[in-house]
Amino acid sequence: MKIKFLGGAEEVGRLAIKIEDRDSKIMVDYGIEPEKPPEYPLPPEKVNDLFVTHAHLDHTGALPVYYHSYKANLHATAMTANSIMPILNDSLKIMRLENYTKMFNENDVDNLFKSLVTAKYGEPFEVDGLTATAYTAGHIPGSSMWWFQNSKSFMVTGDLYTKDTNLLTGAKPVKTDILIMESTYAGRDHEDRDEVIKRLKDSIKETIENGGKVILPTFAIGRTQEMVMILRDMDYSIYVDGMGNSISRIYMETPGFLKDSKLFRKSIGRVIQVRNNRMRREAIEEADIIITTSGMLDGGPVLGYIDALSQDSKSAIFLTGYQVDGTNGRSLIENGTIKIAGATIKPAMKVDFFDLSAHAGHSDLVKFIKDIDPETIVLCHGDQREKLQESIPEYNFILPFNGHEFEIK
Ligand SMILES: [Zn+2]
Ligand SMILES: [Zn+2]
Repeated sequence: MKIKFLGGAEEVGRLAIKIEDRDSKIMVDYGIEPEKPPEYPLPPEKVNDLFVTHAHLDHTGALPVYYHSYKANLHATAMTANSIMPILNDSLKIMRLENYTKMFNENDVDNLFKSLVTAKYGEPFEVDGLTATAYTAGHIPGSSMWWFQNSKSFMVTGDLYTKDTNLLTGAKPVKTDILIMESTYAGRDHEDRDEVIKRLKDSIKETIENGGKVILPTFAIGRTQEMVMILRDMDYSIYVDGMGNSISRIYMETPGFLKDSKLFRKSIGRVIQVRNNRMRREAIEEADIIITTSGMLDGGPVLGYIDALSQDSKSAIFLTGYQVDGTNGRSLIENGTIKIAGATIKPAMKVDFFDLSAHAGHSDLVKFIKDIDPETIVLCHGDQREKLQESIPEYNFILPFNGHEFEIK
């Protein structure tokens, strides 16, 4: 079996894995590094089938670039396919507005969706000389670990979360010879999730009772919806702004992926969805809590809200997601400053961080490996991969680099 990472081997982002085994030639994911401008993986190489683990841009953002040059069937769950559509259209819009190099066009996005073959969890199918099955990855709705059987069995986890959340049940180990696994949190463990949620709710309550408002910058896909569910029993006025609202609608219209879709629908019914600038002004006046994109403060409605409330020292910004180096979010945590329209501002608001990551922590990854007990583990999607290798040296690890093809016998 020959494997080549076109991206995402030694970094968190732009994952693209080409795998050749006997006569089959596949690629799993083809994502971007969502920088300004985005960074793309190595140029696409022709394969027979493409498999997508989940909708996040670092796994899907470059897919239309593939379809600009080649054809291939695209395998994804219905939820992943439906969630990709608005974000790729958004990428096209940003490319145009920001004058970024045009890497793909509307036709390429069309061709991508024309090539779609939807997969169901736990239902194997034959393709390109191998058997493929999607299993839930517990990361965001629709996220899949792809399991394959050819000369050996191998599984690509994509992004992985093994514990239950409000939205999803966690990923379960699946027996496999070769495990190609993400390692975002190698070397780091998360604080207990229930404790984090309690601390977050206490801090929200304290801020509001002191006369402030809370801005929760969140990712549109998965996090916005998890946040709405976490806050469902808090008796405050909650406004939700940004692409998270379209994604919530997709989650309601695509049955069979949420842990409790009835409770999700009820939780969404509790919040006010912001649809225009008039409602934005209303939110600044009336809201106790504003849940809005982007999650790393690099664009989207969140900047307008922070701008409006920046001098209100009673109000707060609570971050809940991983803040990539170089983003406004990271700068806010480290220096207390962000850039809005080119100007650096230092909000007087309180800033805090609550780790609600949807990536398995170090100990969860170790347990996942031990439960599967594979012959070989290929680590990717991480910048501290050696930490995992060091903590369980009895296993056979491969830590590949982008662009270098390697063989597993
Ligand atoms: Zn992800
Ligand atoms: Zn990822």
